[in-house]
Amino acid sequence: MRDAILAWYDAQGRHLAFRGTTDPYAILVSEAMAQQTQASRAAEAWGRFLVAFPTFAALAAASPADVLRAWRGLGYNRRALALRATAIVVEEAHGGDLPRDIAELEHLPGIGPYTARAVAVLAFGQPVGAVDTNVRRVLVRSLVGDGSVGAAVGPADGAVHAADGPGAAATAARAPSPREIQAMADASVPPSRPGHWTHALMDIGAVFCKPRNPRCADCPALPWCRVGVARAASGRGDIGSATPKTPRPARTREAAVPFETTTRWLRGRILDRLRDAVDGDWVDLREAIGGHPAAAVAGALAALEREGLAQRDPADPARGRLPLA
Ligand code: SF4
Repeated sequence: MRDAILAWYDAQGRHLAFRGTTDPYAILVSEAMAQQTQASRAAEAWGRFLVAFPTFAALAAASPADVLRAWRGLGYNRRALALRATAIVVEEAHGGDLPRDIAELEHLPGIGPYTARAVAVLAFGQPVGAVDTNVRRVLVRSLVGDGSVGAAVGPADGAVHAADGPGAAATAARAPSPREIQAMADASVPPSRPGHWTHALMDIGAVFCKPRNPRCADCPALPWCRVGVARAASGRGDIGSATPKTPRPARTREAAVPFETTTRWLRGRILDRLRDAVDGDWVDLREAIGGHPAAAVAGALAALEREGLAQRDPADPARGRLPLA
């Protein structure tokens, strides 16, 4: 299965800008950006960010305001501040070099188990598995089976279930723990190509092994995959790219809420106004923004200040600016 997946990756893997580097700093920036942001959008922003801050030293020396401006369009702005905080620790405590040890990496601001392992494998070539949601889905479906997937993939993913036909029983395993999934991921890594394997698994998850309606017929892992084989054996005739869409469950009330009415939208608009201002100038935010009344704007500005993303004017808390230090 590894050979088939790597052969597919060599021929058809996604060519994302940040896959061409082994610079630990550049890889850490890409991983911070790609969390909760579409990979293609992160790849665009990544190049611009590296021009502005090409090294840990440059990022550590930048003001929070400058880093937040460079993060524009990526959302989840606390990631930008965490990245800057990491740069400062790397400069002050590690002589400007990112530590190679996973436990040390996990001690850095904003770096969790996934990011630490992604940096270890992609920057330092260590044979460890980096388990994001795509990788988890591929490994669990292929090596354990759909019955084990549980909430990680969801029962409406279109994969076979116990009553679906021949082969289905093989998929009705218990859900593996995060530790077991990490062990599977670590064991799957080929020592000769750990970075390519990581990217290849991510691509299989993004291109074929989607949460709903996986495209098994086109997937290079199909002959070895428990879910893929069970789906084919079920004779449902609905595997692969010709799969008719499984009806989506009724939209939840939360999903149906227009984005413009959310606090996240409001926070983004406030931060964009602060980004557009000259450093140090206070921006007046006492008016309503969109459909959000002035009180909601004031509340959002106060929350942004608590999170270190903005400052309020001590003399007039309805005015804000990006933090300068
Ligand atoms: S064969 Fe299907 S279930 Fe298995 S990894 Fe590929 S897309 Fe996912």
